[in-house]
Amino acid sequence: AQKIEMKVPIVEMDGDEMTRIIWKLIKEMLIKPYVDLKTEYYDLGIKNRDETEDQVTVDAAYAIKKYGVGVKCATITPNAERVKEYNLKNMWKSPNATIRSILDGTVFRTPILVEGIKPLVRTWKKPITIARHAYGDIYKGVEYRIPEKGKAELVFTSEKGEEIRYAIHEFETPGVILGMHNTDESIKSFARACFNYALDTKQDLWFATKDTISKIYDHRFKDIFQEIYENEYKEKFEEAGIEYFYTLIDDAVARIVRSEGGMIWACKNYDGDVMSDMVATAFGSLAMMTSVLVSPDGKYEFEAAHGTVTRHYYKYLKGEETSTNPIATIFAWTGALKKRGELDGIKDLVDFADKLEKASLKTVEKGIMTKDLAALSELPNKTVVNTETFLIEIKKTLEEML
Ligand code: NAD
Repeated sequence: AQKIEMKVPIVEMDGDEMTRIIWKLIKEMLIKPYVDLKTEYYDLGIKNRDETEDQVTVDAAYAIKKYGVGVKCATITPNAERVKEYNLKNMWKSPNATIRSILDGTVFRTPILVEGIKPLVRTWKKPITIARHAYGDIYKGVEYRIPEKGKAELVFTSEKGEEIRYAIHEFETPGVILGMHNTDESIKSFARACFNYALDTKQDLWFATKDTISKIYDHRFKDIFQEIYENEYKEKFEEAGIEYFYTLIDDAVARIVRSEGGMIWACKNYDGDVMSDMVATAFGSLAMMTSVLVSPDGKYEFEAAHGTVTRHYYKYLKGEETSTNPIATIFAWTGALKKRGELDGIKDLVDFADKLEKASLKTVEKGIMTKDLAALSELPNKTVVNTETFLIEIKKTLEEML
């Protein structure tokens, strides 16, 4: 059969350890035989980041800005141990953080549902996507431990030198204080990314804060979302038949747990940190979670939510068999192919990506799966396979569908 032609390349960011091995297998076995794959390749493997003094990460981010769509393999974020292990010149920053700061995006994480693996919350039938604001609040907080009796104040000095002071607390005994901030600009781009993603995926958007208690800070988030919604998105939402819904965070939690799922839940930074782990765990596993970074000007970076699966890689190096789950990485590729197909008007590419996703899930539903899934699946007859056999089985299922 003829391969599907592409027009514009996908920015391909290779990575580390077990996911780097799987990355190659997915391309060779599941994509290249069917698609005349065009990519602009950036090697974000730890060795090349070290050799290029991390310039390759910056270049890749700018390439996403240029072309609009990227796909990223999991990468090592070096710590002291890794610096030793790989003899690195420097403890390079997290590539995800570097890319995020250049694209100024919001991260959307969505569980991949498959029959036979039931969410722990019985009512959940559709995925719940968490949209996490990735700037500010306690993550850029300044903290201080109060050692003795005294007065704590909040002070703002304007450029002109005017001073505004608020009493925080008159301490009689020791305690702690915390100063944190956010900016209107960052909240606005967070809001736009959420509204765009809701339109893109035709799902309702929920947003929640604690504005009854935090009458200025959290209320600012609520107001900015409302204002942008009214001015820029209300009509588009009505046309698409979707809703924007604001509520208090405690009410949102109660409603989410009783819902069927199928919405995007926009969360402030800390809420998103906690809730995305809660949602991932309740739906099954990190190996079944996709992640996409969307910038306010509509650039996309797809990845798996998990890391480089180091434990399996060490086994692989010893020549032992591994059963690493490739599904989230496959979905990162299909997400990128689909987006490229949509942007360039290549329907065959969109259809192919859809089929590859379905083939992956169908294979698991037939009872053929990696070890991590076998531990969760309620299917009576399960065959646990290694990564390569699993990919061969997906390919067989895909061939039947094409
Ligand atoms: P990890 O996600 O690699 O592994 C966490 C746990 O989940 C392990 O027990 C692992 O065996 C299991 N697991 C994860 N994905 C799996 C899969 N596909 N199949 C089967 N089991 C799977 O995270 P970690 O161990 O904390 O970190 C390993 C490395 O990955 C670190 O160097 C870290 O810096 C990096 N990391 C990268 C990213 C990213 O690039 N987005 C994210 C997280 C961690």
